[in-house]
Amino acid sequence: MTNHKTDLKNLTPDALREFLSGLGKEDFRARQILRWIYQRGVTSFDEMTDLSKDFRRELSERAWISSMQPELTEASGDGTRKYLFRLEDGQTVESVRIPMESERATLCISSQVGCALGCSFCLTGTFGLMRNLEPAEIVNQVCAAMREGPINNIVFMGMGEPLHNLENVIAALEILYARDGFDYGPRRVTLSTAGLVPEMRELGRRIRVNLAVSLNATSDAVRNQLMPVNRRFPLAELMAACREFPLAPRQRITFEYIMIGGVNDSIADARRLVKLLHGIRAKVNLIPFNEHEGSALRGPAPEAMTAFQTYLLDRDMVAIRRASKGQDISAACGQLKGRLERQQPALPA
Ligand code: SF4
Repeated sequence: MTNHKTDLKNLTPDALREFLSGLGKEDFRARQILRWIYQRGVTSFDEMTDLSKDFRRELSERAWISSMQPELTEASGDGTRKYLFRLEDGQTVESVRIPMESERATLCISSQVGCALGCSFCLTGTFGLMRNLEPAEIVNQVCAAMREGPINNIVFMGMGEPLHNLENVIAALEILYARDGFDYGPRRVTLSTAGLVPEMRELGRRIRVNLAVSLNATSDAVRNQLMPVNRRFPLAELMAACREFPLAPRQRITFEYIMIGGVNDSIADARRLVKLLHGIRAKVNLIPFNEHEGSALRGPAPEAMTAFQTYLLDRDMVAIRRASKGQDISAACGQLKGRLERQQPALPA
């Protein structure tokens, strides 16, 4: 019904201005519409009371404003909330709201349905890639979570490899950064990649965002096993791209390191990690592997984590131990989807 119309949430601020100029409208109309959509959460043109009736009618003939409601919300004892959204074609994606200190919250969002990269520690990888998310489907995760309270930071760490959906992710970033919309500064948004090197370089050329690299291993042999993408872009190439990634003063690249018992949690690994990150303004997040059904991998011994972290700290590295939040609600990405789809067959598209 709405397919021939333009979803305004798919448009970057520039594209919105262009769309409106096609209707003979001035640039300030784009600012008004951005405020209605993203600051006030309006999804109907009728509510845009500072636009003339004729303009509202014209808009509703050519455009619409999508919105998403979670089909399922799981709340954890530590305040983490996980949302599962069913998309127009019946596919599902999820987002996680993670409470931070002093009433702040971070939202972890998805960029694809499933993922093509097949990392062995990740449940999403086992589904394969279904499709890319549209920009609107990315920003609608933020709109939905904001209805439950403010979101201070956004991380692209949910389902999917954001750089495998580069154009739509850049469009979503431009929407999130729009002054008259959400107005997130680039310092409040982090994009996490498994290491698609050419796209990392392109991202750095085109837009500012905090970069996180899902590293998880310190040798090509182990990383090839855990993350097949490493066979295309081995550690040396990945690290070269990190060294060249443009950083603002005081900005660091975050390296995510999921610690897996007996696989990557030895002191020899810590030693290699220090070498790999030499010369990079880096921050290391150590995350214990969250054991889940269907995976033979195990979490690390607490002493191994402590020894690993101490080794890094003693060498003046920034190494933060992250509790996996939401332990009781399917915390690893893809687990909620996995559970839901086992319970009920996917709806026919
Ligand atoms: S960890 Fe990320 S890149 Fe790897 S399979 Fe999962 S979603 Fe894809």
